[in-house]
Amino acid sequence: GSPSRYDFVIVGGGTSGLVVANRLSEMTGYTVAVIEAGDSVLNNANVTDVTGYGRSFGTNIDWAYLTEEQKYAGGKKQIMRAGKAIGGTSVINGMSYTRAETEQIDIWERVGNKGWNWKSLFPYYLKSEGFQVPNSDQVDAGADYYISYHGEKGPLKVGWPRMMTNGSVLPVLDQTLSQLRVPYNRDVNGGNMVGLTSHPNTVDSNANIREDAARAYFWPFENRSNLKIISNTRANKIIWGDDSDGLAVATGVDVTGPDGDETIYASKEVILSAGSLKSSVILELSGIGNPDILKKYDIPVKVNIPTVGENLQDQTNSGLSYAGREFWIGGPTFSALPTAEQIYGGRVSGLASSIKSSLEDYAKTVSNSSNGAVQEENLLEAFQFQYDLIFKSRVPYAEIVFLPLGHSFSSEYWPLLPFSRGSVHIQSADSSRSAAINPNYFMFEQDLDVQANVAKFIRKAFETAPLSDLVAEEFSPGLERVPANASDSAWSDWAKSNYRSNFHPVGTASMLPRAKGGVVNSELKVYGTKNVRVIDASVLPFQLCGHLTSTLYAVAEMASDLIKRRYIF
Ligand code: FAD
Repeated sequence: GSPSRYDFVIVGGGTSGLVVANRLSEMTGYTVAVIEAGDSVLNNANVTDVTGYGRSFGTNIDWAYLTEEQKYAGGKKQIMRAGKAIGGTSVINGMSYTRAETEQIDIWERVGNKGWNWKSLFPYYLKSEGFQVPNSDQVDAGADYYISYHGEKGPLKVGWPRMMTNGSVLPVLDQTLSQLRVPYNRDVNGGNMVGLTSHPNTVDSNANIREDAARAYFWPFENRSNLKIISNTRANKIIWGDDSDGLAVATGVDVTGPDGDETIYASKEVILSAGSLKSSVILELSGIGNPDILKKYDIPVKVNIPTVGENLQDQTNSGLSYAGREFWIGGPTFSALPTAEQIYGGRVSGLASSIKSSLEDYAKTVSNSSNGAVQEENLLEAFQFQYDLIFKSRVPYAEIVFLPLGHSFSSEYWPLLPFSRGSVHIQSADSSRSAAINPNYFMFEQDLDVQANVAKFIRKAFETAPLSDLVAEEFSPGLERVPANASDSAWSDWAKSNYRSNFHPVGTASMLPRAKGGVVNSELKVYGTKNVRVIDASVLPFQLCGHLTSTLYAVAEMASDLIKRRYIF
């Protein structure tokens, strides 16, 4: 048949890709195609059920990427989950909706991304959001908010589920945590996240089903004649035409679909939104990356950007569980976001100075582990910003999720700002082969130390009244595995063999100036190319204190406006 040709070709119909597809196809004079490896999950109960978290894990809608052996973390491989469906990871995630700290976004501009700061991004959080004001039952159960932090007209439904946990639990947590100096925070979505909160979720409160990128941004618009989704189709690599003005020009994408291989042509732009474990891989397969890596697999170098696939930043998740004295139903969950000082108490200033004096070593270690691809001075700048956030701005240093459900009261937690940095790189020129994913969990002693100290903090909370009245014995890890008053190193040993990925990988195609190791510029365009962008979690240069989707929706909204300005304004 005749070749498929569109103005914009988007690779990956996930959280970010569907926002961009929606907004670009608002320009009626332009055609937009989305290439998506997965299929529709509109009627998949593992997706829609608001209490079904985890049920899709290991099914055919979970990429379940396997990492390399984690040498700093006991040697085991880890599974990194990601959604393979129209809607991407938003169809399998935990639905928590929390944003970021203001200063965290402001740092994007301070490192050189002109125009990207909290104030410029905030309207896009609101543009994407369709906040559902909680009803009186939900308010009684703890739903709390400042309306000025929320957008009520956007496509993405944000609110609380119909069935909420018994309203007596939140005051108990508040009375307990305030003794540990963690304050109550009515609404963490205004850029100040420290405290205990009952945050909203991406949920359709009336229908009581999961809200995801496809339900918000794709299905209601699927009949647009200039918008086409090409599902069950894997993008392999970008196809290049002749250079123009010394820049590489993408003319399309080579794909493998149900009927075999073909090229989907793009007359304007190719936009990679395949997620932070895939977009950089597609760049490498297309000849954009570190020449040392590309040459190994006989891939001709189109653009030399040694940092493609570097700067991988994820968090590590562990948990403690207690037998409950009551029976609980409903959701969502309560989160506590303590600062380093709240976690470490009086030890915090000593800790701060010892970390400060380690930053140069951290930078050296990460640079070496990237074989020099990431430069020490750039890492040092990033680590200094991170240090300042933790110890001067006092942003949250961990999130603790409290989960009273059924006969147990458990908790899950993850330190928010690890110093460890890893990478993802191809191991073959064949796009069907898996990449080498190495987050380097617990690369630095501090990342493990905070994993241990948050666990101690949680045990202390469960031993403090009134929370202690709600629970009986600790069954995980339990006092046999980690005795009362166990040392930090006993907790660290436990954490090393009892953690998982927190599934928040970012940074593999960082938005930064090229001289600072960036892969994309502040218009999310890949350096050295005329018409290739990356828009997904890969471009976040640094980890965030919030869960990722709210910020990804906002970034994709803002990026869409930047692109549209080039074509229609
Ligand atoms: P994705 O949404 O993953 O989209 C990438 C898309 O590209 C996918 O649809 C994929 O199938 C497709 N794709 C990949 N490769 C190809 C290819 N070669 N060809 C064609 N298509 C391809 N965040 C929150 O905000 N709140 C939470 O509670 C939360 N919990 C989480 C729980 C889990 C289990 C996981 C895994 C993540 C969670 N996150 C959460 C994180 C968040 O969901 C993700 O960071 C976010 O959805 C990623 O969006 P993205 O646009 O970068 O990529």
